[in-house]
Amino acid sequence: MTHTFNCTSCGAPLEYTDGMEHAIRCQFCGNSVPVPEEFWREAEMKQTTKKWGKYLLIFLVVTVGIPTCLGLVGSLLGIGGSLIGIIVGFLAQVFGR
Ligand SMILES: [Zn+2]
Repeated sequence: MTHTFNCTSCGAPLEYTDGMEHAIRCQFCGNSVPVPEEFWREAEMKQTTKKWGKYLLIFLVVTVGIPTCLGLVGSLLGIGGSLIGIIVGFLAQVFGR
């Protein structure tokens, strides 16, 4: 996101893009102009939110995703075990006579 503000000494328009330094050198008068705090604060807040979003995703994968996968594997093993039991029972009946 880009914000525009004016140089404090000559009034020339200056552009601030997220991630830049907190001070911009004016192209016209060479003065180092501090970027208004609300501009970079907004960008840093967004970055912090993004970082916590990543942690939240990892947290969800660990607390929900992995147990769900293990549960699914467990269910499949259970179904497999039942099928083996049925087949073994069937074979025992057929060949056990
Ligand atoms: Zn200037």
